[in-house]
Amino acid sequence: MIVRALIGLGGNLGEVRERLDAAIAALDVLPGVAVAARSRFYRTAPWGPVAQPDFINAAIAVETSLPALELLDALLATERAFGRIRDGERWGPRTLDLDLLAYGDDVIDNERLSVPHPRIAERAFVLMPLADIAANAELPGVGRVSDLLGKIDTQGCIPLS
Ligand code: ATP
Ligand code: MG
Ligand code: MG
Repeated sequence: MIVRALIGLGGNLGEVRERLDAAIAALDVLPGVAVAARSRFYRTAPWGPVAQPDFINAAIAVETSLPALELLDALLATERAFGRIRDGERWGPRTLDLDLLAYGDDVIDNERLSVPHPRIAERAFVLMPLADIAANAELPGVGRVSDLLGKIDTQGCIPLS
């Protein structure tokens, strides 16, 4: 079975755009994963309690034959391959964050994976790139991407091209 999954990418350390390009290429060559669409890059001032550089974000759609947890494992392995170090500080600076935003129409909530990603509806840096590639997508239990975008402040999230 082939499923369309939506993935959010972000980072704020080093040459982020080059790294995101490379991460997208690395995902595309994985067995069972093919990149079908990609968004523009967006710049966003950092969010949360830690002083840190601006974030660059993007989103891709992939067609995948991997089960959701295997796709998550592939995303986490790709983060590690691109130098992500988890030091225990959540929402701190990072080279690469790959979040599974949606996996077909599935709703999954277990200790390793929540899909649709639970914080999509409040995040311009997720919804703006997602709208480039999936404005009409219905996220199960959350809503349509374009509708969600209409309900939040998007001022701080700037397209780069
Ligand atoms: P946020 O989830 O708020 O964007 P984050 O991306 O910084 O925060 P991470 O440190 O990247 O959080 O992820 C911590 C854990 O979240 C991962 O090890 C993974 O098991 C779990 N997780 C749960 N749901 C998802 C999802 N939809 N996509 C990615 N990771 C998820
Ligand atoms: Mg994240
Ligand atoms: Mg993450």
